[in-house]
Amino acid sequence: MSDLTPPAIEREVRRRRTFAIISHPDAGKTTLTEKLLLFSGAIQIAGSVKARKASRHATSDWMEIEKQRGISVASSVMQMEYRDCVINLLDTPGHQDFSEDTYRVLTAVDAALMVIDAANGVEPQTRRLLQVCRARNTPILTFVNKMDREVQEPLALMDEIERELGMEVVPFTWPVGMGKTFHGVMDLRAQQMRVFKPGADRNEDDDEILAGLDNPAYAERFGAPYEQAAGEIELLTDAAPPFDEAAFLAGRQTPMFFGSAVNNFGVREVLDALVDLAPPPDKRVAIQREVLPSEPKFSGVVFKIQANMDPAHRDRIAFLRVASGHFERGMRLKVVRSGKELRPNSVVSFLSQRRELLDEAFAGDIIGIPNHGVLQLGDTLTEGEPLQFTGLPFFAPEMFRSVEVADPLRTKQLRAGLTQLGEEGAIQVFRPLAGSLLLLGAVGQLQFEVVAHRLEHEYGVKARIMPSRFQVARWVTCPPEAGGQKELQRFIDANAHRVAYDAVDAPTVLVEYAPELRAIESNWPQIRFHALREHA
Ligand code: GDP
Repeated sequence: MSDLTPPAIEREVRRRRTFAIISHPDAGKTTLTEKLLLFSGAIQIAGSVKARKASRHATSDWMEIEKQRGISVASSVMQMEYRDCVINLLDTPGHQDFSEDTYRVLTAVDAALMVIDAANGVEPQTRRLLQVCRARNTPILTFVNKMDREVQEPLALMDEIERELGMEVVPFTWPVGMGKTFHGVMDLRAQQMRVFKPGADRNEDDDEILAGLDNPAYAERFGAPYEQAAGEIELLTDAAPPFDEAAFLAGRQTPMFFGSAVNNFGVREVLDALVDLAPPPDKRVAIQREVLPSEPKFSGVVFKIQANMDPAHRDRIAFLRVASGHFERGMRLKVVRSGKELRPNSVVSFLSQRRELLDEAFAGDIIGIPNHGVLQLGDTLTEGEPLQFTGLPFFAPEMFRSVEVADPLRTKQLRAGLTQLGEEGAIQVFRPLAGSLLLLGAVGQLQFEVVAHRLEHEYGVKARIMPSRFQVARWVTCPPEAGGQKELQRFIDANAHRVAYDAVDAPTVLVEYAPELRAIESNWPQIRFHALREHA
């Protein structure tokens, strides 16, 4: 147990901000991340974040995936200090085939920053990610990027975000012009104008600031774009809702900022807003009880597992979000699921993108524990108390393949490989009640390719991945008042030809077509069908 007093822990917790940037590919997430890191002094040279995504457009290429997997271990969590805060920034993989992983990352953050390309508005990937945030009531800040281009009218964008995402939008800044006539943003709260000057390596502190929203000099200096912005701001004063902190914290209202990431313009306002508005770590729900971040004893939950680059070693890093207490290197931890003890000495932290050894961590921080399979997705680690955190989502796969090994003598290796890949969350593995072939389930085609490649290179198994007739899966349960385990067993027996068990032995019903599922649902009114399973 830590020798820090609860108030000392509380002080550390209160200065933590843990968030993810969500966006559709190309909206500017990488550029913005880089600028945020520059502000904190975490990196000196612009461009170091970019290096890792140089090849993103070739994601179906094998080597690229391998490369990304390794590189992103170092950059998938970034920690930096800004003002008096410790900021943990979690990367969310952009490719939609990896979205399952992304969803789980979102369970580890306390806020999200949504980047929108002002020309394209709300795009599909943003919408999907937003749905996950909304389901968890995660507070969201919105950054409208690329105002230095000819983009959509800001009022139209605001309207689109409100309608598409079902959230009230509260502008904190408002743009004056766009593209060639982008003159800057009005800060509606500080009642001042920040004048735009292009240039990537500018320091924002050099920005010209003009006092007042309706300074008489504006019309002359900025012309028609100013007149338009002034009219819009007047309209907003009457029509836009006032900022309501409770609504923001509940994910019902989002503060909106305009800027240009590549020009480092409007970025500091967003970072300041994150520090000022985004919440510090809060209590987290375990099956047994709620856990407060300032409790003296350590607890945390594994939300992501990433295999390392070196296939020969098969080591992996479990990413753990600290939920409570004070973590110190070398302390003894218990994996609640297995009862195994762990004494992580080589815990990795992610300060300023360098992998370095970590000495301590508090709620909201992310630590990486190298291990050889002791840790699984969803595992809770404590100093001994039996706790199991809930809320790590598994999504019903949308595609299925059956898998067979080319050389029957390697069946054991196939099973071992699939078990590990399943634990890592790379794929979902199902054992059908009938027949001996294993079934793989994924939400994106690319996952099958990843698995076939890794089976071959990491486990020496040439797997035959074949089409499967199944297209829809639902986890099935039966609450006690509806007949409980007995009724569930009756369902399983009657549907043996289409029931399979997943990696944690949860029963699943598989069907070919959605209408078939509806028929089953109406024939079995006592059974519950779930498209999402939460761990444990
Ligand atoms: P990501 O896929 O969301 O990480 O997007 P990137 O940060 O890689 O940006 C995608 C492209 O948009 C890159 O070519 C950037 O240089 C460009 N970009 C980013 N921010 C801006 C901006 O404010 N203005 C303009 N004109 N281009 C930008």
